[in-house]
Amino acid sequence: MRAVRMTRWGGPPVLTEVARPTPRADEVLIRVEAAGVCRSDLHVLDAGSDALPYRTPFTLGHEVAGRVAERGPGATGPAVGERVVVYGPWGCGRCARCAAGAENYCDRRSELDAVRTGTGVGLGRDGGMADYLLVPSGRVLVPVGDLPAAQAAPLSDAGLTAYHAVTGIRPSLPRDSDGDDRDDGRGSGSATVAVIGVGGLGHLAVQILRATTSAQVLAVDVREEALALADACGAHFGTLLRPDTAEVLRRRAGGVGVDAVLDFVGSHSSLELAVGALRAGGDLAVVGSGGGELTVRKPGALPPGVRISLPFWGTRPELEEVVALARKGVLRVETEEFALSRAPEAIDRLRSGLTRGRTVLVP
Ligand code: NAD
Ligand code: ZN
Ligand code: ZN
Repeated sequence: MRAVRMTRWGGPPVLTEVARPTPRADEVLIRVEAAGVCRSDLHVLDAGSDALPYRTPFTLGHEVAGRVAERGPGATGPAVGERVVVYGPWGCGRCARCAAGAENYCDRRSELDAVRTGTGVGLGRDGGMADYLLVPSGRVLVPVGDLPAAQAAPLSDAGLTAYHAVTGIRPSLPRDSDGDDRDDGRGSGSATVAVIGVGGLGHLAVQILRATTSAQVLAVDVREEALALADACGAHFGTLLRPDTAEVLRRRAGGVGVDAVLDFVGSHSSLELAVGALRAGGDLAVVGSGGGELTVRKPGALPPGVRISLPFWGTRPELEEVVALARKGVLRVETEEFALSRAPEAIDRLRSGLTRGRTVLVP
């Protein structure tokens, strides 16, 4: 079967032939129908040889949807033929966190890293940029019904990570609603949330904020097309990153600063913007891995009372909630689709910053 492999650190992705795996014990084989391309794939491809606890080679692809093709003799969960999305962070499967469906925060992560078993699908373990994907257990499969595969795949990371980040800032959204009584107009909302970086994750964060909170959503990007996408996703306001953007956001938030920032970039400039725009007692969720750093010191540059979180992926129950939102038609992934054979080109396009929404590979 075909697979897009990370063969050496710092090298390009390689489209190659590998043997089709056979599920043993609890394992399940998935016929891949779609695999998303994430900026994290670029971070992995570009990483130095000791930066990540993974062994090469492995197949890329950590956003995967498909159909159950074959089950090992001990497998549980979805039956052969069922359409699923893959819950991607694979922990030990046995600790308290994993038992609660929060494998993204597995208590035994450092032990797993020490033996370099990988963080999850496509991240040190063979992923879904391939014709077939072997998963360790039916516990990492979430049924998607008739949701199109190119819509389903990005939910498992872009959708789930954005949803988990929004869950983390909810304490800063005081008059949060469950979405039923939110105002449909675009000038309202009790709290303000800035979304920095409206790419694969950010455009879904905007939709999730609109669907599940009453917050005013302020979008920031360095590309006009990304702001147009933010607008289409329901953002109340959008601006390019400029020297005065923090001040512009503060003014939009009644002069006091925004209640929360979701930073999907994580660079020096985005963190600087976040700190400059935040209200005292606000929330900063740093999702992007853009290499920026913040200094935590009291007293210091951070507004008093600020809570900083570093959300990583999300939980399995949250993935079920994200899939339910998508099946209700509340979440729509903006996609650019490429044949699997064009994966290197699709990955280059993301690197050049030309992608609108999420790139999805279709075998
Ligand atoms: P993407 O390339 O699709 O989107 C990034 C967006 O940010 C683009 O629209 C780009 O124009 C914009 N941007 C770049 N620099 C900017 C700046 N200084 N200010 C404002 N906007 C800027 O990337 P993605 O796939 O959505 O991933 C976003 C980040 O999140 C990446 O760093 C990725 O590695 C990381 N990520 C983290 C997790 C996690 O669990 N924490 C999960 C998935 C991805
Ligand atoms: Zn990712
Ligand atoms: Zn665990």
